[in-house]
Amino acid sequence: MGKIFKFLFAAIVGLGALAAIATRVPAVQDRLFDKALEKAIAPRGAALLEADGLAVFICGTGSPLPSAKRAQTCTAVFAGGKFFLVDSGTGSWENVQAAGIPGDRLAGVFLTHLHSDHIGDIGEADLGSWVAGRPGRLSVLGPTGTERIVNGLNEEFALDHAYRTAHHGKAIAEPRTAGLEATVFAGDETMTVFDKDGLKITAFPVKHDPVKPAVGYRFEYAGRSVVISGDTAYSTSLIDAARGADVLIHEAQANHMVARMREAAAKAGNARLATVLGDIPSYHTSPVEAAKAANEAGVDWLVLTHFTPAPDNPVAKRIFMRGVSAVRKSNVKMAEDRMTIMLPAEGGVRFGRY
Ligand SMILES: [Zn+2]
Ligand SMILES: [Zn+2]
Repeated sequence: MGKIFKFLFAAIVGLGALAAIATRVPAVQDRLFDKALEKAIAPRGAALLEADGLAVFICGTGSPLPSAKRAQTCTAVFAGGKFFLVDSGTGSWENVQAAGIPGDRLAGVFLTHLHSDHIGDIGEADLGSWVAGRPGRLSVLGPTGTERIVNGLNEEFALDHAYRTAHHGKAIAEPRTAGLEATVFAGDETMTVFDKDGLKITAFPVKHDPVKPAVGYRFEYAGRSVVISGDTAYSTSLIDAARGADVLIHEAQANHMVARMREAAAKAGNARLATVLGDIPSYHTSPVEAAKAANEAGVDWLVLTHFTPAPDNPVAKRIFMRGVSAVRKSNVKMAEDRMTIMLPAEGGVRFGRY
């Protein structure tokens, strides 16, 4: 036995050494690089576009509090071979690209409100979908104020667009389809903001004072429904809008953690941070309140996102979710960046990851 063990050990060490030497050979390096490229370039996100019901790709689960594991807020909803972003927080377009989702199928960006953590990547989404062959200007739909964001970004990226056209030519970077186009609605009452090819999108007001207007969205397609809360304190208008939905994607802020963070900041003499941490509980929803809202609305699944603070390890996750299971025993998920949610027309909800 001892001899066999020694032989196996020597063989494994030998193979390891051979592999280490092989990766120094340029031809082997190129082969490995080509293999990785094959995988990276294949349109893996295509399954989302081929779904016969609704599909969701979580492109960002963070908030203004930083996390190395999360882009800022973004949710992509797929229906009928195209997709919409709901918010486009910093870093989120990279997730869309890393998942291999064809950018030319981006049909529009819906904004819930105009806080920085929801709008930071609109310029990246514009550029990425434009050079991917988007057929027109990128539609940005949102409550009053959206026109200012769109005008500002069009000005910000005007030179970039011109450079791309000069460099790549009109076949790749067509000036007619560059940039953004705003569609603005009041956002102070529930209204249908999109109704085409069987997809209906309703905007409804939520409570995020002093940010006004602030809305959430309900997507309905092929008998399936997904509701996105936007940023809100516990809100009865959200509960009304989410009634009977298959999936409610709700923001979550663990106020019991924020309170401890505030104490720690005060103890460390950082009065400025302590003040900010004291201001934020009033306009977000705790995980327990989100669970109550999901129960009252009678939704099938509750998916938490827009985490404050970001629960990036198992202990932090447990602390974050404290008290939730007492309110809602099952069908609660914490979103992660690049999570997928499939809602096929025949029914059921399946979670995965790209
Ligand atoms: Zn906000
Ligand atoms: Zn936010």
